[in-house]
Amino acid sequence: MIHYALRCGTGHEFDGWFPSITGFESQVGAGQIACPQCGGTRITRALMAPALARGLAADQAAAIPAPTPAPTPMPAPGAVSAAPPAPSLPAALVARLQRVRAMVEAHAEDVGIKFAETARAMHEGELPTRPIYGEVTAAEAKSLAEDDIPVLTLPWLPRADG
Ligand SMILES: [Zn+2]
Repeated sequence: MIHYALRCGTGHEFDGWFPSITGFESQVGAGQIACPQCGGTRITRALMAPALARGLAADQAAAIPAPTPAPTPMPAPGAVSAAPPAPSLPAALVARLQRVRAMVEAHAEDVGIKFAETARAMHEGELPTRPIYGEVTAAEAKSLAEDDIPVLTLPWLPRADG
């Protein structure tokens, strides 16, 4: 059963119980529901209290506040931790790249901005081949690639320990 608080055309309020919402609508449409005070049949629902819990009195149900939309949670300031210079990288990737950096630093020689020059010299046999790392400009990286000099460019993230 569904409980409806009903209101007639002149504002009288009364209760009605119906087997379903379609039952209510068909009875109202057929003029079968009349206001107990004035007999008016222009009935509208004043308030719907559907799905009453079994055993719950109607007045208790009416006291249940209508559900309000859950407030959209605002992100707490600082909740979005961005690892510069790549704020969009997922944390797992950042961690992996930081491990790569640590490994490279442990096993290769830092040649800094002379990387392209040194890599080319090693490739030409002018220098003994050894693992190196350093910085290249985009133009240098392109030039090395064009000469088939094997280099790997990686996002060089800040160390994990800062
Ligand atoms: Zn009435």
